[in-house]
Amino acid sequence: MKTYKIASIPADGIGPEVIAAGHQALEALARRDGGFAFDVTEFDWSSERYKRTGALMPEDGTEQLKAFDAIFFGAVGAPDVPDHLTLWGLRLPICQGFDQYANVRPTRILPGISAPLEGVGPGDLDWVIVRENSEGEYSGVGGRAHKGMPEEVATEVSIFTRVGVERIMRYAFKLAQSRPRKFLTVVTKSNAQRHGMVMWDEIAMEVSKDFPDVEWDKMLVDAMTVRMVKDPKSLDTIVATNLHADILSDLAGALAGSLGVAPTANIDPERRFPSMFEPIHGSAFDITGKGIANPVATFWTASQMLEHLGESAAAQRLMRAVEKVCADGIMTPDVGGTAKTQDVTDAVCEAIRGEN
Ligand code: ATP
Ligand code: MG
Repeated sequence: MKTYKIASIPADGIGPEVIAAGHQALEALARRDGGFAFDVTEFDWSSERYKRTGALMPEDGTEQLKAFDAIFFGAVGAPDVPDHLTLWGLRLPICQGFDQYANVRPTRILPGISAPLEGVGPGDLDWVIVRENSEGEYSGVGGRAHKGMPEEVATEVSIFTRVGVERIMRYAFKLAQSRPRKFLTVVTKSNAQRHGMVMWDEIAMEVSKDFPDVEWDKMLVDAMTVRMVKDPKSLDTIVATNLHADILSDLAGALAGSLGVAPTANIDPERRFPSMFEPIHGSAFDITGKGIANPVATFWTASQMLEHLGESAAAQRLMRAVEKVCADGIMTPDVGGTAKTQDVTDAVCEAIRGEN
């Protein structure tokens, strides 16, 4: 029997509530399957820890995580700690330290969940957005001169490297190839940004030659937002820069119904280091402790984690269970239901146990 070592970092707000739900589903799957098990180590790295000790995680934090097969992450952020501190104090050191350069965000409308586009239901919107997660517009390069003066200047430099663009492009083509439609849309803004974005276009063309069975097209990011709303069926796999995909995936999440159902995976495709799996939503202190956090995003990212670990059958079983429970109307208030986090979790575990 295989035992996967999972580092669990529930962190802040509703993080601990949804991660606890996620572990229950993972346990149910392991028991149902019998072929694998989880050895979970929980870390208390969080804003609470920051307030106690001055650091969200210990200095050798990433070193401690190296020995794990995957990282299961809740949410970080607290009303009384500045956002950039929490982001740079916990999530980003892990993403960057482990070179998790592919941020993978599946989006589809789950049965029973009402989505905002008229006439667009389950089956009409089934996308995976691949976000470049290591460079681009969020490289942090730039500066300010003459602060506060009328002549103040600030620069924010985007860094695109051939290695960085090629590896994310290759990842996206491969992912597109593995999906039934075998269709990729490469998003840039190469009409206005004529250096890095033109290099993206060129590299897309080069990499495409290694994937003759993948059909692909190019979109400018502004036109892409229109296409996502007007013609969601025409899209499948999407690849874009750090900034563009950040924005597009929020739009995608909204079009699919709720933040509470949107998952993400931060992947090191070369498997040198553990990858990290998390719901897209944040700590949501407005509903913390009320027992109504939607655990679906966390189940979905747990399914991504199982897929990454090679437990494809369990990954699919989990998503079938989630879809059944949504279709049965057992949902939390954010998607129009009246169920509690634990009701949804129990129903999903029951569906896992009961499935033939
Ligand atoms: P952070 O600062 O960590 O991003 P936040 O308070 O901005 O946290 P988000 O998680 O970004 O909150 O979500 C915005 C709102 O969406 C929340 O205030 C909450 O009401 C709702 N929400 C987010 N995630 C969930 C969820 N899993 N279940 C139910 N509602 C959610
Ligand atoms: Mg937020």
